[in-house]
Amino acid sequence: MTTSDQPQGLQGDATDKAKLRQKYAEERDKRLRPDGNEQYLRVAGQLAHYLDDPYMPVVPREPKTDHVVFAFIGGGFAGLATAARLSEAGVGDVRIIEKGGDFGGTWYWNRYPGAQCDTASLVYMPLLEETGYMPSEKYAHAPEILAHCQRIGRQYGLYGNALFHTEVVSLEWDAATSRWHVSTNRGDAFTAQFVGMGTGPLHVPKLPGIAGIESFKGHSFHTSRWDYAYTGGDPKGAPMAALADKRVGIIGTGATSVQCVPHLARACWELYVFQRTPSSVDVRANAPIDPHWFSEIATPGWQQRWLENFTANQAGGTAEEDLVQDGWTDLSRRIRARIMDLPREQRIPKNMLAAFEDSDFEKMEEIRARVDAIVGDRETAAKLKAWYRQLCKRPCFHDEYLQAFNTPGTYLVDTDGKGVERITGNGVVVAGKEYQLDCIIYASGFEVGTEYKRRAGFDLVGRGGLRLSEHWAAGMRTKHGIHVHGFPNAFLVQPTQGANLISNVPHNLTEAARTIALMVGHALAQGFKEIEVTREAEDCWVELLLTGAGRMIGSPDCTPGYYNNEGREPGPSAKLNVGHPAGPLAYFKYIEAWRSSGQFEGLTFR
Ligand code: NDP
Repeated sequence: MTTSDQPQGLQGDATDKAKLRQKYAEERDKRLRPDGNEQYLRVAGQLAHYLDDPYMPVVPREPKTDHVVFAFIGGGFAGLATAARLSEAGVGDVRIIEKGGDFGGTWYWNRYPGAQCDTASLVYMPLLEETGYMPSEKYAHAPEILAHCQRIGRQYGLYGNALFHTEVVSLEWDAATSRWHVSTNRGDAFTAQFVGMGTGPLHVPKLPGIAGIESFKGHSFHTSRWDYAYTGGDPKGAPMAALADKRVGIIGTGATSVQCVPHLARACWELYVFQRTPSSVDVRANAPIDPHWFSEIATPGWQQRWLENFTANQAGGTAEEDLVQDGWTDLSRRIRARIMDLPREQRIPKNMLAAFEDSDFEKMEEIRARVDAIVGDRETAAKLKAWYRQLCKRPCFHDEYLQAFNTPGTYLVDTDGKGVERITGNGVVVAGKEYQLDCIIYASGFEVGTEYKRRAGFDLVGRGGLRLSEHWAAGMRTKHGIHVHGFPNAFLVQPTQGANLISNVPHNLTEAARTIALMVGHALAQGFKEIEVTREAEDCWVELLLTGAGRMIGSPDCTPGYYNNEGREPGPSAKLNVGHPAGPLAYFKYIEAWRSSGQFEGLTFR
């Protein structure tokens, strides 16, 4: 593609918009594949070594055969927040089971150079007020977020009881004792009165299904298992000196690649970035947080106020003020401002959608113009432009990614939507040309559209032997995204069927943690052995969810990716992968009222 192929003069007239829509559709069609999610390789069998932990050795230990009050699967933000809230509610006997060698979840595994949060630290990092911690930057880098996870673990005394490098393989309810039986891959077989699950949406790395992937003779790894022993350097940004004489290829140009490519460009003798679809890369504008300013805003209750303000801005609310001012609130306020420009009587769905589209065209034109302004080589610049609506793919923000393509020795290899053709013993083939490489880095993301039990690594077995996969055969069913009928004393900690606030996932988790701690605290104080949602309450909640407008992102008109099931019509069950019909703000208000009523409506305690 050259610059002459681009629609010209898109200043808002109808012909230009029609051309742009057509261009978007053409670019999407190039990428549609009949195999959808099946195109990716499961990291197992011969490929299982891609999952090995390069950061910490597995320490031998005796299996556990005891009993705990609460077992939580996953030591990321969900487990940490839930354990912290339980501890505040007086429930101290919490065991976190985590497949990594420490707490952190995503931030344990993702130590690639340049990793940082894309949502402002002050709302992204949980329990800042409780730990008294001030992040050093508006968008904190990974080592600081990992250290914060460890801080939470220490502050709430979670290390002593935790099982690291351990994966749950079965979870079965025992009705006779009102306990869960937990078994792991380390031979543990213990019981827990309550279990929580916070395994995260993006924790199982996937590899691209490229012919010949097993035949490569050089070095290779997935970005979530960064091999600093090979590259040199460290997660804090020390230069990767060992790459100075290496030809490195990175496959993928999503949010991960956008963050690590600048570091690779600086370090490698030659860097080849293999691109199937360009990301939209907007301004980052990171900055240190001023301690004086922080001490003024950090008055009691500050983080909750900030979280609520973020959600109000981000989720179409009406907040006058934008405290957080990050990429997400900017995106939402811009769309909202366009809609508000319409005279009140013209604010009907059709006009509002048109205003949304106008705002999107304008933003994407700005992002494409930014590529031209930064990237020196015209052909490379043309190929780095994203031709789709901003929310079709995960929006990215970076101030060094596009610049990296001006670095001598850094090459963009665009596959024109087709993907890498083949991998050989020596390198990567695109359009018949072989690029000889010493190392291939897979920035190919994580499993999203696969079955819950495949990603979790176990199938929950509830009352009467009912499996969660059976109960969810026609789609997810919960109340509040937390409880499932037939699975007493088990709680999910995740966004779907709750607020579903995807721009700040931790907020969903900290709210769920609060709710769970309240229920468990109540059950223990009153001597109840079981908490279960009634079938009617679960049905009612699912019915409520179905009254909504459906998913806000994931349109089949979009270029394919994990946001839209790789462009394939999702099965009927996907209509249940939604949040509260009135949006995240409404959900958070609702759940706060539900909690403070003290009625535990929809639950049975026995
Ligand atoms: P993604 O799934 O977003 O990206 C995978 C990349 O691999 C895409 O560019 C994809 O192309 C490419 N790819 C797949 N198959 C092939 C192939 N056969 N040939 C060539 N390229 C191929 O993974 P990421 O790890 O980048 O990000 C996953 C998610 O993790 C993000 O969307 C975000 O939610 C989260 N994340 C968050 C961060 C933060 O908050 N700071 C940072 C990093 C990630 P195509 O686009 O065409 O499918």
